[in-house]
Amino acid sequence: AFIEVFGDEALERAEEIQSKIIDGKAGRLGGLVIGIKDLICYRNHRVSAGSKILEDYVSVFSATVVERLLSEDAIIIGRLNCDEFAMGGSNENSFFGPVRNYADNNRVSGGSSGGSAVAVQAGLCMAALGTDTGGSVRQPASFCGVVGLKPTYGRVSRHGIVAYASSFDQVGPLTTSVEDAALILEVIAGHDEYDSTASTLPVPPYSEQLSFTGKKRIAFLPETLNSEALDPEVKSLMEATIKQLKEEGHTVEPISFPYLDYVVPTYYILTMAESSSNLARYDGVHYGYRSPNATDLETTYKKSRSEGFGAEVKRRIMLGTFVLSAGYYDAYYAKAQRVRRLIREKTDEILKDHDFILLPTSPGPAFGLGEKTDDPVVMYLADIFTVQASLAGIPAISLPLGNNSDGLPLGVQLIGRRFGEAELLAFSKYVS
Ligand code: GLN
Repeated sequence: AFIEVFGDEALERAEEIQSKIIDGKAGRLGGLVIGIKDLICYRNHRVSAGSKILEDYVSVFSATVVERLLSEDAIIIGRLNCDEFAMGGSNENSFFGPVRNYADNNRVSGGSSGGSAVAVQAGLCMAALGTDTGGSVRQPASFCGVVGLKPTYGRVSRHGIVAYASSFDQVGPLTTSVEDAALILEVIAGHDEYDSTASTLPVPPYSEQLSFTGKKRIAFLPETLNSEALDPEVKSLMEATIKQLKEEGHTVEPISFPYLDYVVPTYYILTMAESSSNLARYDGVHYGYRSPNATDLETTYKKSRSEGFGAEVKRRIMLGTFVLSAGYYDAYYAKAQRVRRLIREKTDEILKDHDFILLPTSPGPAFGLGEKTDDPVVMYLADIFTVQASLAGIPAISLPLGNNSDGLPLGVQLIGRRFGEAELLAFSKYVS
């Protein structure tokens, strides 16, 4: 799970913070031991993005989220494994090797924030930060039986986060409870002069707004429950959750979402396009790995990138470049932009009359290591339930609501309204 543990440094800091706690002067996260995904910059520490191309790269500044954790006296204990540049859903695309699920060592952790999920699942730290572009906090959380929150796009600054797809990426907490997720979000969220997409909306004290009363209106999408991909035990958990909420007096009703078949292709066209552009900066000159076999500028680019990037990253750069190229741009990229808008509008429309959308986090429990590595499309299709909230840019949380008959964790997902994290967290606490 960990690529690197900042052992001595964390211990020293723990001692300092212990005295602050004794003096009653510790911050809101005083003593919280937290791990950060290897995609989050921490000054004078390495950040590799799970890639050979950044293997020995040392951050020259800290991400805003790191500054905020530290200013509230959290203890950052190390950096956590992830899929290379956050591209993947099983953590099998990391240059540093896969992360194994703590519930069953022959199964994947989920991804791309697999190290973050397992570190919390196994009690190696109290909480972790991950990033979620299309499910990378929520899906590993569901595979590992922890809480995973993707905030609204713009709720949390992306300054100092290694970019994958900039119009989707968001940092989110993985925790053992909704209370912890609320507290961490409260600390890391908010305006940041270094990220113009970070919202200026005030940050509510989420952790103090967790009590919940009243009856809610919840939509579930019949297309998700009838999906062929859905594992029967996940379906039963969804049905049991719906039944229980109804019994408690909430309105839970099926609302059709006719675009389910389009969410995965739209997501992948757009994220590959954005990533092909974002990853152009790794050229063997500015950052990280430079091929020792290079002889001139052209071979510096070619060989450094060919040797530095893994197969999945190269696949996405090529496909992303293709969908952006003259002659194909309108057919793929521009069309996907339009479909994204449709998906967002339809989702917002559902959320006008409903407080939340309830859906599975993932079609099934954690799958076996190597089970889906032969066919990238099979791996992509497993993101069918997480990418809707990412395309729409709205908050979503995965809650560990049960286990299957083999004892593997199962997650259920709630999507909330744009910047409606307070309501989403309060209801999540009630549900879990
Ligand atoms: N599995 C998705 C992908 O590979 C999601 C990754 C993420 O959210 N970073 O793009």
